[in-house]
Amino acid sequence: MATGSGVAGSANTGKVRQHPTQNEGLLFERSSPGKRAYKLPPLDVPAVDAGELLGRSVRRERAELPELSEIELIRHFTRLSTWNYAIDLGMYPLGSCTMKYNPRVNEFVARIEGLAEAHPYRPDGFAQGILEVIELLQRCLLEITGMDAITLQPAAGAHGEFTGILLTRAWHESQGNARKKILIPDSAHGTNPATAAFSGYLVENIKSNAEGGIDLDVLASRVDEDTAALMLTNPSTLGVFESEIHKIADILHAKGALLYMDGANMNALVGKVRPGDFGVDVMHLNLHKTFSTPHGGGGPGSGPVACKGFLEPFLPVPVLVRNQDGTKRWEYDRPQSIGRVRAFYGNTGMFIRALAYILANGPDGLRQTTEDAVLNANYIRRKLEDVYELPYKTASMHEVVFSDKRQAARGVKTGDIAKRLIDYGFHPYTVSFPLIVHGALMIEPTESESREELDQFIDAMRRIAQEVEENPELVKTAPHTTRVSRLDEVQAARKPVLRWKKPEAGTES
Ligand SMILES: *Cc1c(COP(=O)(O)O)cnc(C)c1O
Repeated sequence: MATGSGVAGSANTGKVRQHPTQNEGLLFERSSPGKRAYKLPPLDVPAVDAGELLGRSVRRERAELPELSEIELIRHFTRLSTWNYAIDLGMYPLGSCTMKYNPRVNEFVARIEGLAEAHPYRPDGFAQGILEVIELLQRCLLEITGMDAITLQPAAGAHGEFTGILLTRAWHESQGNARKKILIPDSAHGTNPATAAFSGYLVENIKSNAEGGIDLDVLASRVDEDTAALMLTNPSTLGVFESEIHKIADILHAKGALLYMDGANMNALVGKVRPGDFGVDVMHLNLHKTFSTPHGGGGPGSGPVACKGFLEPFLPVPVLVRNQDGTKRWEYDRPQSIGRVRAFYGNTGMFIRALAYILANGPDGLRQTTEDAVLNANYIRRKLEDVYELPYKTASMHEVVFSDKRQAARGVKTGDIAKRLIDYGFHPYTVSFPLIVHGALMIEPTESESREELDQFIDAMRRIAQEVEENPELVKTAPHTTRVSRLDEVQAARKPVLRWKKPEAGTES
């Protein structure tokens, strides 16, 4: 224990008080019997023994929970929040995740009482306000994607993929043959093969060509009457736009197969091109990526699925329809529907935030956003390509993928560089993904960042490259400025310690 100036030292223990953000979690140690973080009015009904009321299912002993005052509890959680990194603290260049800033006006709108309190069991006649919001968002997303019909039910991107593939399956079945396999390029996001397998399809991998795109001849040789669809991320996880996309669509359609587009990377396309115009039959969007609704911490997210008209009869129920008089209602009588994929209407709070973002930006603002996101990624590419290896030279869209090839020659891997970046005050980029790039560094700055923040990031990355030359050990043992340094990642995943355990008597220091 370091000795302080004496001012901060405690007369009782001789221990120096740590900075409040650095304190160990003293939740249990500070507990004392009878302390409470709440005050309730005195009982004005007869007290009942819970055991008597609920029978044997009720636990008899008190759980060993800490007893604390309100301020101790608040400080505990506030302290924990300071151990984390957040988009509200700095750049979060986690490629493929589109960690853009979540404007506060979205939060304001989502909390408007009439919207926030709209109960999902309200009869349609009393829910016209929220239905109007939902319909308007649907129209905006259809305009942005160039598709004909949409469901907002899915709660995440992966859930959207699942819904989209179920639509594909239902359509093929209606044509008399569900088909057996789905083609997926080797650059795909891991959720794509998982979705296809989960939906009962065989997954067949398609190797990418040297530009990071699909080889049309290879594709043509693989598509047959048993192919249900190709699942394609565009731009791909390499940040590369599939410039032959309409030819890909033609090859699939000639054999009766569909083109599914993973639209998680729409931040590179909104306002510029529309998937519906280049042959896509069904796709999902990630409102929690492209449309600035918060993500992380397990959600809630939102992964709407948009499709061409021939897939509309299969959309999940209920479907929002317009009455003669312009009012809206949920329609349940859809005999070909794949059924519900989510309770109620979906994550309504996310719809409101996404719509607020779309309306606040307007068409020109959305286009500008796309251009800025692509410009920022290319600025980083240009400023780092002399120190980090660029495996694919094809033009970058909203993200850029380097490899650790040069640094690996000095024994430093992408994961080490990412951990060193933490010492410079940045969230790491995406490590070792996409899989087709060995030792990948996948960087997505988004449009949110200023030139100054980008320059600081570039400076940190260049310094790290320099450190790799001069003192690789420094990078390999990073981070050095965090509460905990390197964790044993295997043990942390296999045997995570997720709860406090009472120290055994005599072991406390
Ligand atoms: C994020 C992402 C997904 C999955 O979205 P979730 O909302 O995390 O389920 C799918 N594909 C791509 C390309 C992504 O970036």
